[in-house]
Amino acid sequence: MDQRPPAGCDICVVGAGIVGLATARELQRRHPGASIVVLEGAERIASHQSGHSSGVIHAGIYYAPGSLKASLCVEGAARLYDYCAERGIDARRDGKVIVATREDELPRLDELERRGRANGVPGLERIDLERLREIEPHAGGIAALHSPNTGVVDFPTVAASLASELRSGGGKVVTGCAVNDLRSGGGRIAIEHPGGSLDAGRAVLCAGPWADRLAVLAGADPDPRIVPFRGAYLRLRPGREDLVRANIYPVPDPDLPFLGMHLTRTPQDEVLLGPTALFVGARDAYRLRRVVPRDLAQSLAWPGTPRMMRRFWRTGLTEMRHAISMRSFVAECRRYVPDLQLGDVERSVHSGVRAQAIARDGSLVDDFVVSETERAVHVRNAPSPAATSSLALAEVIADRVDALG
Ligand SMILES: Cc1cc2nc3c(=O)[nH]c(=O)nc-3n(C[C@H](O)[C@H](O)[C@H](O)COP(=O)(O)OP(=O)(O)OC[C@H]3O[C@@H](n4cnc5c(N)ncnc54)[C@H](O)[C@@H]3O)c2cc1C
Repeated sequence: MDQRPPAGCDICVVGAGIVGLATARELQRRHPGASIVVLEGAERIASHQSGHSSGVIHAGIYYAPGSLKASLCVEGAARLYDYCAERGIDARRDGKVIVATREDELPRLDELERRGRANGVPGLERIDLERLREIEPHAGGIAALHSPNTGVVDFPTVAASLASELRSGGGKVVTGCAVNDLRSGGGRIAIEHPGGSLDAGRAVLCAGPWADRLAVLAGADPDPRIVPFRGAYLRLRPGREDLVRANIYPVPDPDLPFLGMHLTRTPQDEVLLGPTALFVGARDAYRLRRVVPRDLAQSLAWPGTPRMMRRFWRTGLTEMRHAISMRSFVAECRRYVPDLQLGDVERSVHSGVRAQAIARDGSLVDDFVVSETERAVHVRNAPSPAATSSLALAEVIADRVDALG
């Protein structure tokens, strides 16, 4: 990686997660002569959400037809498979099943099927229990969907490949350089960092968990605010991984943007169970007890947080139970993998923190959100499936950057 940021460039991207890197690459493809610099606060690229995900290439089933998530996930997955094939990155199209286990989940499974078809998800089909058992011998339920186009990939490897392409094209990626202020004027934007200031023609802020802070520094509305939700995982013990061939998902709660605790065979052939979704006190709470006073204070002071908590207190209690009790975590997963026993799992070191935007009215912002301030484009909400969608989302962001003039 490059050691020092230059004094100026045409376009500066802040954040070397998968969205920032895909955007920088897209802008370089469109403007081959432009100088493009990515500034990353952490010492490594993909240190936050992009390096802490489930690694699933989503097919595009869940998202409201017409939303950015729906179109960009379907298109992004197709682009990602092509990109991985071109660059020699292992992306395994293993497929997944979504299993309904209770009568009240059947209308929701119907709705997922309808959405998947409306979104153009390739190969999606309703399957009977015999077929479910052929695909996943240890899964059980009363109805299921099969999505053969779902897969897994190591997103940090994809991010590293994007960064390497960018640098081969003359772009720079500077790590260990946290942006602390933004000032625009005279058709330029000054990006302040501990080593000085970078003068850019345009800026793109892809700061994931810290996106709202940079947007506010640039003069944007504080609504929506990022509130962190930690995802913890268990893993199947060595010797018990045969309980899951690929991906087994439950029918999710339609009021939440989270997909429920699933069982996923990673590209490294480890089987993860999770993630949970627990409100936490730090935007980088990879350990459960980590609290950053400023993060916690900002979450609690946001008017949307108590509104969200009043609405979802029952879900919050369930998530707390899953976070502290492996028994409760396993009992939830046993609904769709009945053979699963407490002795089959152990805690995984893998965890992630979702940067979920919460609106002032307490709603969890569902779709991707991209907005502008003077000379800057901000990605204000890019939760799952933004890693899957990154190559397609990058085009939408680059269009907005080009529209700045
Ligand atoms: C538990 C979990 C499971 C997930 N599973 C999936 C999945 O299976 N499939 C899927 O498609 N998606 C999944 N996601 C979502 C996916 O990981 C994210 O949508 C995606 O990684 C977002 O990428 P990003 O580049 O926007 O954010 P990030 O990867 O968080 O990157 C933002 C970057 O900005 C940097 N930054 C922030 N502030 C500054 C600053 N001031 N100066 C410089 N740099 C700064 C950060 O250090 C960070 O590197 C999951 C997420 C989580 C948390």
